[in-house]
Amino acid sequence: MRVLHALESLRRGVIELAFPQRCAGCAGESPHGPLCPACVGSIPRLSFELCARCLAAEREPIGCAVHRGYGVWAAWVYDERAAVLVHALKYGGRPGLAGVLAVAVVDALPPALRPDLVIDVPLHAARRRERGYNQAAVLADAVATRLQAPRLPGALARTRPTREQARLGPRERRANLAGAIRVTCPEVLAERTVLLVDDVVTSGSTLEACLAALAGCGARAIAAALAWAQ
Ligand SMILES: [Zn+2]
Ligand SMILES: [Zn+2]
Repeated sequence: MRVLHALESLRRGVIELAFPQRCAGCAGESPHGPLCPACVGSIPRLSFELCARCLAAEREPIGCAVHRGYGVWAAWVYDERAAVLVHALKYGGRPGLAGVLAVAVVDALPPALRPDLVIDVPLHAARRRERGYNQAAVLADAVATRLQAPRLPGALARTRPTREQARLGPRERRANLAGAIRVTCPEVLAERTVLLVDDVVTSGSTLEACLAALAGCGARAIAAALAWAQ
């Protein structure tokens, strides 16, 4: 009996470690995620479209009227609060968190958008094995549920591992990603309105490569992300 009791309190301790009930922003009560609803609500929102192509080329990404098919809608500015949520999503520690985040993503989208399919930015197989988890796919599942739109997992694939993008310049990033993204089912995506979901937009080059692959197979694509790290 005493052993069972000890096991039970150990189990509870582990759960509490994995799911602390305190908000990382204000240390108040936070029963449903790493941030309380007030702290989630205080993350600065973005209300304009970014152009992945201009972003990837390090040009002004707001207000581009040239590159159709490269539009990205991000919900938030990537600040320290958004980082807490993205980190929790990345490491899968919060069941139900993706649903909360999907609300923010869907609120950022043009209200008239009715995608035929929701797809995710692929993680390379080697990296997925390392982590066991593709956070963009988990977020895409929740966004599809929220929009009541069909979800098509695995529509894009990485053909080879790419180098870490962070230290590369815009030209090197493009070369690094050229041909690295492949559409697995072009006949399914052709002529469809496709919503591509990612977690954080940084250099824009991964989204640009995905959107270019989608344009190549005749899909009408738009991208959505949780946050933009300027
Ligand atoms: Zn809080
Ligand atoms: Zn542009």
